[in-house]
Amino acid sequence: MQTSNVWNFGPGPAKIPTSVLQRAQAELLNYNNTGMSIMELSHRSKEFENFNNKTQRDLRTLLNIPNNYKILFMQGGGNTQFAAVVYNLLVAKRHQLSEDLEEEFNPPLDYLITGSWSLKAAEEAKKLYNNVNIVFDVKKLKGSYGSIPPKEEWKLSGSKAAYVYYCDNETVNGVEFNHIPEIDPSVPLVCDMSSNILSRRFDVSKFGVIYAGAQKNIGAAGLTVVIVREDLLIRTKNFDNKNSGIPAIPSMLDYKVMADYNSLYNTPPMFSIYISSLVFEWLLELGGVEAIEKTNSIKAERLYEAIDNSKIYKSPVEKSVRSRMNVPFRIQQEELESEFLKGSIELGMLQLKGHRSVGGIRASIYNALTLEGVEFLIEYMKEFERKHCQ
Ligand code: PMP
Repeated sequence: MQTSNVWNFGPGPAKIPTSVLQRAQAELLNYNNTGMSIMELSHRSKEFENFNNKTQRDLRTLLNIPNNYKILFMQGGGNTQFAAVVYNLLVAKRHQLSEDLEEEFNPPLDYLITGSWSLKAAEEAKKLYNNVNIVFDVKKLKGSYGSIPPKEEWKLSGSKAAYVYYCDNETVNGVEFNHIPEIDPSVPLVCDMSSNILSRRFDVSKFGVIYAGAQKNIGAAGLTVVIVREDLLIRTKNFDNKNSGIPAIPSMLDYKVMADYNSLYNTPPMFSIYISSLVFEWLLELGGVEAIEKTNSIKAERLYEAIDNSKIYKSPVEKSVRSRMNVPFRIQQEELESEFLKGSIELGMLQLKGHRSVGGIRASIYNALTLEGVEFLIEYMKEFERKHCQ
């Protein structure tokens, strides 16, 4: 098989634009006339420093990130951020409440559970801290993921909370928020945007922390982008931990440390940062997030239309919260799914199998997967239906 005749519908690691891979290939042995690859350069070199800053500037332009936000290049994926947000935002809350607080410090952490990734984040928080408030868990309410309850049913803690956490796009379950949740303005909103960052415009200023693993819309695994509001960056050594109820933050998880070192506290994942930088340039050339958002809407609309208009396919997700990035669907007769997947692979449509926890089929249609790829899949779905539905 060759890249040119494969459609990669993988959920992450996912498709990287072909032109980005070609450029990385061309520059691999000699980055910017240094006589070596970017992986071999010192991360303390001038070249890398310039490159690090330029990559941040491009991301700032793409997402229109205000100046009072820092961009951090961290490691450890989304799973590491599940823990990092707990530490960092408890410290920020402790700071907000004043340093000589006498009563016990035990603010609730509010979690909205719309799918398996937000659930996992809440479980990690519970390991570290004893006051996690589940604002709602859709599976507990409805038996399965695929919807978001109306705001009247949310059990938010109000201004007491150290933060409110949600996952904007649930990669496994195909549930995406169609709005930014309204919460108490004094409480930081924390969002996992691993699988939909850079897919549409949104207002960064509504958030305290946004993070995203790179391996979907940003580039290659190994890098996790964190965007954090500056007032939440607190030096932990200013605290004695007597009343804080929280341990000091390990340096590699500490947003303040990462910000102070411009993400060069230790050796960063240089190759992943490099690939992201090429992806950012690719996106800027295409016309930025606004341009890709238009294509993404068309891709998703066409695919859902094909599902809804068919007699054999069905979507497990309520229309108003269907993801534009990960489109899970089932075939009424589930035993046909393996035949569907086998046939898709023969035609070069790869990684369409649903997540092992839910089964079925899932088409991940991130920024780099073109409209042409989606149309190719739709044609195949129609053909498969004709064959099985006389
Ligand atoms: N959050 C979301 C929304 C994800 O899709 C994933 C991974 N697919 C994660 C978190 C976990 O990311 P990682 O594997 O980088 O830890």
